[in-house]
Amino acid sequence: MNVPVNLLDKPVKQNLLGMTLQDLEAFFTEAGEKAFRASQVMKWLHQLLATDFDEMTNISKNLRETLKQISTIEVPEIVFDQTSTDGTRKWVMQLEGGNKIETVYIPESGRGTLCISSQVGCALDCSFCSTARQGFSRNLTSAEIVGQVWMASRLLNDDSSNKDEQRITNVVLMGMGEPLLNYDNVLKAVTIFMEDNAYGLSKRRVTLSTSGVLPKLDLLGEQSDVALAVSLHAVTDKVRDSLVPINQKYPLKELMASCRQYIKNQKAKSHITFEYVMLNGVNDSKEDAVKLVKLLKGIPSKVNLIPFNPFPDSGYECSPMPVIKDFKEQLMKSGLIATIRKTRGEDIDAACGQLVGKVEDKSRRKRKFDQPRYGMN
Ligand code: SAH
Repeated sequence: MNVPVNLLDKPVKQNLLGMTLQDLEAFFTEAGEKAFRASQVMKWLHQLLATDFDEMTNISKNLRETLKQISTIEVPEIVFDQTSTDGTRKWVMQLEGGNKIETVYIPESGRGTLCISSQVGCALDCSFCSTARQGFSRNLTSAEIVGQVWMASRLLNDDSSNKDEQRITNVVLMGMGEPLLNYDNVLKAVTIFMEDNAYGLSKRRVTLSTSGVLPKLDLLGEQSDVALAVSLHAVTDKVRDSLVPINQKYPLKELMASCRQYIKNQKAKSHITFEYVMLNGVNDSKEDAVKLVKLLKGIPSKVNLIPFNPFPDSGYECSPMPVIKDFKEQLMKSGLIATIRKTRGEDIDAACGQLVGKVEDKSRRKRKFDQPRYGMN
């Protein structure tokens, strides 16, 4: 086939990894090909994890040559790979331009959760989160978001010591960044995770975690049925304003209204997970628990209590475990489902932001700042 001139003229080759089925169909149609090529190529990319167009044997040689000219399959580069004694595996991946992001695999019985990043750094400036200190560098492309799942799948597949046949059953956008501030790329990525021709994960198994960027949250409810986690962390605007500054723009009342609407928009029965970091003396009183129950009234909810991961100069301490347990009991008594997040991968001291800090230190031979702990641990 002849490559249409307009495609060859495009300044950059398109990375096929970040394209939804719909994107690929448009791409093939534009290239003068049949749309069904899209699902074929999608399977090669995300199920057979191909990086070489010549592996795509059900596609004509001609078309493969064309694809080489107008597109690429580019995956992130692994610069750090460590496994904790509890099986948690952490990777630092380097992107084009040198930026680094973190991806964490958490195996549990019967499931394997991959925690991925949506941005390099974060702009939200939550006071208890170490990524905030790193500031914001840039949004990830959809290919870079998908590339984390691609790479982790490939590494788990290739690992001959992977006797438990670990694989990715769940994906959570709880790594670096605020997914809803990178809306278009994140929407494409979650669509690809749930696409039958790609990773085929059910909508209950792909979770987007947000601090509550409201107009985008409302839009997400209309455009996707990805599972939702909301980083709530406080029950009054006063406290939430100080922990999650975006609350000053989108206060609790509006956030809860958007959550109610999100549930309404879902076709199937669903719930929202509310994340609540336990900070000693800040948000962990019995009164807070009672208020939390009130706040969540009418919303099918699960509350995930997260023991705070301390870091230097954070100014916060984790609530003592008996306080966390009492808080949980208080919620359960009122009929809420509440869990306490287990700390994972502690021995490799490799919580999200911290890990990137260490790799940066090594490569720069100097400490930029103490990169603290954060995120999924
Ligand atoms: N920006 C998104 C996703 C990234 S943060 C969001 O806000 O949801 C993923 C989760 O880790 C959030 O619930 C966040 O509040 C929590 N987190 C951040 N720093 C933490 C820390 N030091 N200890 C415990 N949890 C933390």
